Amino acid sequence: MNENQQVEQELRDTRHILNRLLAVSPAVIYSTTPFHPYQVRYISENVAIVTGYSPDQFLEDANFWKSKVHPDDRPMVVEQLNKMQLLEYLEMEYRFMCADEQYHFLHEEIKILRDAEGNPKEGIGYFIDITRQRNYEEAIRQSENLYRSLAEASRDLIILISGEKTIEYINSYARQALGWAEFQTKLPSYAHILKLIPESSIQQVFQTQQAVYTENLAIISKQKTWLGTWLVPIFSSQNEVEFVMAVARDITRQRETEEELQRALKAEQELNSLRYRFLTMTTHEFKTPISTILSSVELLETYGERWSPEKRKDHINRIKAAAQRLNHMLSDVLEVNRVESNAGLEFSEKVDLIQLCHEVISEIQQADQNQHVIIFVHVGEVSRVRTDARSLRNILSNLLSNAVKYSYPGNEVMLELITHPDHFWVKVHDRGIGVAEKDRENLFEPFYRGENVNSIPGTGLGLTIVKRSVEALGGEIQYEEKVGGGSIFSVRVPLKT
Ligand code: ADP
Repeated sequence: MNENQQVEQELRDTRHILNRLLAVSPAVIYSTTPFHPYQVRYISENVAIVTGYSPDQFLEDANFWKSKVHPDDRPMVVEQLNKMQLLEYLEMEYRFMCADEQYHFLHEEIKILRDAEGNPKEGIGYFIDITRQRNYEEAIRQSENLYRSLAEASRDLIILISGEKTIEYINSYARQALGWAEFQTKLPSYAHILKLIPESSIQQVFQTQQAVYTENLAIISKQKTWLGTWLVPIFSSQNEVEFVMAVARDITRQRETEEELQRALKAEQELNSLRYRFLTMTTHEFKTPISTILSSVELLETYGERWSPEKRKDHINRIKAAAQRLNHMLSDVLEVNRVESNAGLEFSEKVDLIQLCHEVISEIQQADQNQHVIIFVHVGEVSRVRTDARSLRNILSNLLSNAVKYSYPGNEVMLELITHPDHFWVKVHDRGIGVAEKDRENLFEPFYRGENVNSIPGTGLGLTIVKRSVEALGGEIQYEEKVGGGSIFSVRVPLKT
């Protein structure tokens, strides 16, 4: 092979490689005259793969290519081609009818080559079929539109928050909730959003990368509104939380219904436990005196005439004491009802507190048959105050009789009266059995009795009367455990001026 033949062979080889390359390339390469009618001079073989037409169809008829351009895109394409005279480079996208009788999207770029005088000599370009990519883009756009319309139509508040504390998206319901006008193109700021969603929850999602549910109160249209919000992390391609999507719902109704149900349930439970306590109390406390009365009456009937006067007297006294106890218990029930209805409060006359304390102490001591020492301490200048004497008497006598009842014989009980110009304190101290921790919160409930009362009689109504009487006077009561054992009941009563 001489040198010429060798060069020719090499050229053929190179062309062959080039053709093979072009055949597998998705881009169709061509060369065209840079002016009307834009006659194609060369077009790569792969045009047959890309469009389904043979290269000859393009080469033989200058109008072939243009005739296949979608009629709607043709004016734009012609306008672009006409610019070849002026420009160095052109780029366009249009619909092209391929041999499968379907319009395909083509992306085309043309470079214009010029001669030494600067006149356009040739247009060299390529086009590729971008239908798939276009379809993807369209599908993405459609799904984006779909989600956007869903989000816009939603009655939930939907907000997209970025890690840079900016709002990327907010649906129309959330805008309304913020009072953000529809026509405002600017998005609300992060600070605005915090009126609806607690910042701690947003930041928690960024930090933990986990979804969070929170319920909080917000003011929407000047109304206190309960919002239940799901905060969900949205990850970037680097797997970091890029956004937090908040979906909040007005759950005020739901909360109210739940609260109502809870209240109804609690009331029902309270009523049940009240019934239970009432039954326990009546069976225990009423049964004993009634049995005493019945048995003494029966004994008197059967043996009364044979008994000595002393023995008869003894049984009559037992009947009297039992009847008195019943009477006392019934008075307590009536008194609870009376204080409950706030009936008969009398603030017109001034009451001498010191004198009242002395009176109640001596009544209690009498009933107690002086088994306990009751000490009275008074601190303060004031003694005569405008208050309801009956309520105050209820307070003092029930607290003192309890102090005595729940203390061992011989123990000291102290009544402390501290007076101020606008209020006074009554504190009753004892060294008795005290109140177990678990009983303290229920002490003032009707018929409630502590677990440690054993056989000490009682109705569970005394402290209810005290509590209601204290409230009737506008005051408050509290229980305190006394250091070293025992109890202190402290009552504070404000004075009407
Ligand atoms: P009662 O004394 O008739 O049972 P109360 O309503 O007066 O009813 O008191 C309720 C409960 O509170 C009592 O059963 C008792 O357990 C407890 N309690 C009241 N006062 C005292 C006190 N001074 N020391 C210990 N426990 C007390």
